[in-house]
Amino acid sequence: MKILKNISLKAYNTFNIDVKASGYAEANSVAELIDFVKEGHLRDNNVLILGGGSNILFSGDFDGLVIRNRIEGIEVKEQGTDMVLVKAGAGVVWDDLVHYCIDRGYGGIENLVLIPGSVGASPIQNIGAYGVELKDVFHSLEALDVNTGEVRSFGTEECAFAYRDSIFKKGLKGKYIILSVSLLLSRDHDPDVSYGAILDELKAMGVDRPGIREVGEAVTAIRRRKLPDPEEVGNAGSFFKNPVITEKKYHEIRNRYPDMPSYKGEPGLVKVPAGWMIEQCAWKGQTLGNAAVHDRQALVLVNKGNATGKEVLRLARRIKASVFDEFGIDLEMEVNVY
Ligand code: FAD
Ligand code: NAP
Repeated sequence: MKILKNISLKAYNTFNIDVKASGYAEANSVAELIDFVKEGHLRDNNVLILGGGSNILFSGDFDGLVIRNRIEGIEVKEQGTDMVLVKAGAGVVWDDLVHYCIDRGYGGIENLVLIPGSVGASPIQNIGAYGVELKDVFHSLEALDVNTGEVRSFGTEECAFAYRDSIFKKGLKGKYIILSVSLLLSRDHDPDVSYGAILDELKAMGVDRPGIREVGEAVTAIRRRKLPDPEEVGNAGSFFKNPVITEKKYHEIRNRYPDMPSYKGEPGLVKVPAGWMIEQCAWKGQTLGNAAVHDRQALVLVNKGNATGKEVLRLARRIKASVFDEFGIDLEMEVNVY
């Protein structure tokens, strides 16, 4: 692997933030990545593993080594009458994997269609959408220890998946490079259409007995309408996580906002859409410098063209302060800031 110096990262992050990395290398195979780690290039270096850059905000130039994961390959490892075990390289585009599975009738990830980014990043925040999370189909992953160069396997328990969270965002942050992810999918899948907008979309499509392909198409249509395409306007999807609050806190807010949407979480807990709270604080569609709040979904912050990461962060902090003043809730950022 060759280390390039002073490389622009603008094309490698969907926020389109124009920053430079002092070192940049691409990994195209597991073998070369293992050699690279064992040669000691990661020791004493500030390291960032980059997939599609769709969940990242660069607040300035990156003083360290960026390793872009480009390890390809999708293979069926095992097949039974009902189940199939599919393994994909970390550099595979997540949406390509979803379509590979839909085309072969492997069900379970059709609700996760059109999520940008790489397979390798999918366990990091346990990607989720439309009522399905990665953990629902996760089997295992292989990861490289950045200190020793050893490869180990992680099962579901070890990943400690939670709502948009995993061990790789917490205790093991920056300690492993994910090399591949294996998913256990169903060959006779009954798709989950319980998430409100899907049923309406299927109805509009004239579909009353949907299979995984139709569900994938319905989710694609909803997402295309509602979310900004990073090819057209820089963004990293939801900027904040939806807060999960106690029932007591929920009732306090509900007294002031009887129309507040909410979803039951673990016993005693309630999930409240952060986008709704941001909207109540009148931020939807607002601009601050070159950063803005998307006009169709207030949870998404966008780059109006030449925003710096600092400008986006300034907007995010202003939003956080407004939501805290109005609701007493401290929004947590979902996007990884470097
Ligand atoms: P990156 O942004 O490159 O990296 C994210 C983090 O993971 C970084 O900390 C990075 O260091 C780490 N990382 C990446 N690859 C590896 C690896 N191989 N090993 C170790 N660490 C690694 N997310 C959802 O959950 N649901 C959605 O519905 C959704 N919709 C989105 C819609 C839009 C328009 C956009 C722009 C984003 C959306 N996202 C969504 C967020 C994002 O797409 C996901 O989090 C995705 O998994 C990020 O993948 P990536 O390869 O781009 O990761
Ligand atoms: P939405 O349908 O307008 O709903 C707003 C919020 O309410 C969502 O965030 C969702 O939480 C919650 N919600 C809605 N219906 C729900 C239900 N039946 N059960 C539980 N929670 C429900 O959301 P949206 O912005 O258009 O996004 C649609 C889906 O795509 C969501 O799942 C969202 O997470 C996902 N998405 C994620 C990102 C990202 O970057 N993380 C970006 C775009 C879209 P959940 O988020 O927990 O589902």
